[in-house]
Amino acid sequence: MSAHLLDGEIFAAQIHRETSARVTALKAKGIVPGLVFIRVGEDPASRAYVSRKEKRAQEVGIASRTLVLPESTPLATLLKEIDALNADPKVHGILIQSPLPSSLPNDLVYARVAPAKDVDGFHPLNFGKLLLGDPTGFLPCTPAGIMEILRLGKIPTAGKHAVVVGRGQIVGRPLALLLARKAPGADCTVTLAHSRTADLPAITRQADILIGALGQPLFLRKEHVKPGATVIDVGVNRLNDPANPRGYRLVGDVDFEAVKTVAGAITPNPGGVGPMTIALLLSNTARAAEDLSR
Ligand code: NAP
Repeated sequence: MSAHLLDGEIFAAQIHRETSARVTALKAKGIVPGLVFIRVGEDPASRAYVSRKEKRAQEVGIASRTLVLPESTPLATLLKEIDALNADPKVHGILIQSPLPSSLPNDLVYARVAPAKDVDGFHPLNFGKLLLGDPTGFLPCTPAGIMEILRLGKIPTAGKHAVVVGRGQIVGRPLALLLARKAPGADCTVTLAHSRTADLPAITRQADILIGALGQPLFLRKEHVKPGATVIDVGVNRLNDPANPRGYRLVGDVDFEAVKTVAGAITPNPGGVGPMTIALLLSNTARAAEDLSR
């Protein structure tokens, strides 16, 4: 038996079409949604992520550009750049590409972005709104993208047991809150597992919906999965591979080939959560422009 594939590229294309239509409607009113990426340093993975996001933004009609700052940028300079973008009426969304150099305190930087332009959903105000269930905030893109995979993949959620492995700030923790919301497309009973969880396989095997968001290559194997469960693979990990020209290959947190033989539905990786993260970012940007132009 092989699991049903939850194809993030197909779902993302649907969201991009909707975003593109909203952008066209905004442009008819004379508003061009603007998105600025801030990249500090020359991390190759960050460069690749930002250029992919920028390309997609342009495809849906969002005016995007990247502000590249040197690795040695002092905090005060970065904050000044963010202040200028906060004040620029042509800019509706600001995304600070992680990871920042270790010399820059993440919390201070993310909190400097105007909450109304925080299309990544990392500002403490937007996190607070997520916790309160206030729909006026921006949801972080990866967890929101996973909720869309479940919705578009027609995976039942109400009353189901969702196990999220990983309590990271960007994925696991906000995702657990979204899954547990009292709302259509959510209403799960949620277990949030982490590195101190005892007997993890016994817990993951109870999951109707199992999400790997721990950043450990191919960690979740067949024995972690209940037959018929839905499995979502968030991880992006480098695995040494001398046969690969780059010397490594990218793999997820789920051993896809083994798990697909037991799961009911599964995301590919790549091609699952990644494209949805970008789709939700651009949808958030269209919303920021709609909100700021009201
Ligand atoms: P993170 O902040 O480092 O959190 C990792 C979490 O996994 C922690 O809670 C950690 O537990 C837990 N963990 C680590 N090893 C474990 C183990 N052996 N058993 C159980 N739990 C374990 O990471 P993150 O930022 O949430 O990212 C997680 C993964 O998602 C990464 O691979 C990242 O690259 C990927 N990601 C993908 C996208 C996308 O768009 N596809 C977006 C964001 C992130 P403790 O809390 O106990 O340390």
